Amino acid sequence: MSRVYNFSAGPAVLPEEVLKEVADEMMDYRGCGMSVMEMSHRSKMFDDIIKEAEKDLRELMHIPDNYKVLFLQGGASQQFAMIPMNLMKNRVADYIVTGQWAKKAWQEAQKYGKANKIASSEDKTFSYIPDCSDLPVSEDADYVYICENNTIYGTKYKELPNTKGKILVSDVSSCFLSEPIDVTKYGLVYGGVQKNIGPAGMVIAIIREDLITEDVLPGTPTMLTYKTHADAGSLYNTPNCFCIYVCGKVFKWLKKMGGLEAMKERNEKKAAILYDFLDQSEMFHGTVEKKDRSLMNVPFVTGDKELDAKFVKESQEAGFENLKGHRTVGGMRASIYNAMPMEGVEALVAFMKKFEEENR
Ligand code: PLP
Repeated sequence: MSRVYNFSAGPAVLPEEVLKEVADEMMDYRGCGMSVMEMSHRSKMFDDIIKEAEKDLRELMHIPDNYKVLFLQGGASQQFAMIPMNLMKNRVADYIVTGQWAKKAWQEAQKYGKANKIASSEDKTFSYIPDCSDLPVSEDADYVYICENNTIYGTKYKELPNTKGKILVSDVSSCFLSEPIDVTKYGLVYGGVQKNIGPAGMVIAIIREDLITEDVLPGTPTMLTYKTHADAGSLYNTPNCFCIYVCGKVFKWLKKMGGLEAMKERNEKKAAILYDFLDQSEMFHGTVEKKDRSLMNVPFVTGDKELDAKFVKESQEAGFENLKGHRTVGGMRASIYNAMPMEGVEALVAFMKKFEEENR
């Protein structure tokens, strides 16, 4: 078996331990003679899987009892519509646009009401997080929306914005479970699982109970109403059973690794290996403001497109996959999610050093 170092922004590397366990259980999950993929979502066996997954996630994130955990389909992008449909009671919401995912969410919300862009970092190609200490929050805003870690540009909020008492809604797709967060600071915090947690196609939404109501925008489909899924324990229809099962295994792995404090420490060490190298290299440069650097997505360039292309090609030949930057920004990007081992980043930096020497 040969595994590459996979720096993909998502779907992304998962812990080998988890993949092996899944493979071992594929023909016969715990003596039931079938895989989780083949199992009824109404069976006792699956009920245990989903309940245990939720319990472990609650423990990891210290989710208070007045928040519901929902396992939903449609990926993170479906939330761009679901959020305004369910939360835009006054038909007004404020958006901070720090990248393409925040922009997409903002654009989608415009279909449902007045979505104000109250801050943006587009003037400098989203290379920083705007000052959010004194935002022009709208008086009648139903919520303030952020994308907490910007996967494409590699920036991360180090402090949450001052929403002046308004509900904070946050997309944490690319920093989910990478460090502890205080769930009570959010009305709704959600993320696609395909980066730090499991297979693509599912989103986990953690939502304060008082925000789950029948008072949604007229015409909101049953399947896009949070209450439908909250009332049914995420089993209103057939959920993504296999994904929930894999996510559950990743939660167990995270607990074994020491929880989110330990992950944060590990992620800081891992990211520092790469950022320290970028800061002293004469060839490679990070593209975002240092204070806003993400621990998960690290974009960098040489400043020469041909050299970038050569690096991407040669790195792939050397076993480093998916280092090409997002198609809209070019250059390179190393996504170093929870499951990327320290050795993967060390090996990448060693390769970059060698490349720099050979291409001076
Ligand atoms: N939000 C962020 C921050 C992302 O990085 C992505 C995808 O990479 C999305 C949303 C969209 O996720 P999905 O493809 O699950 O809809």
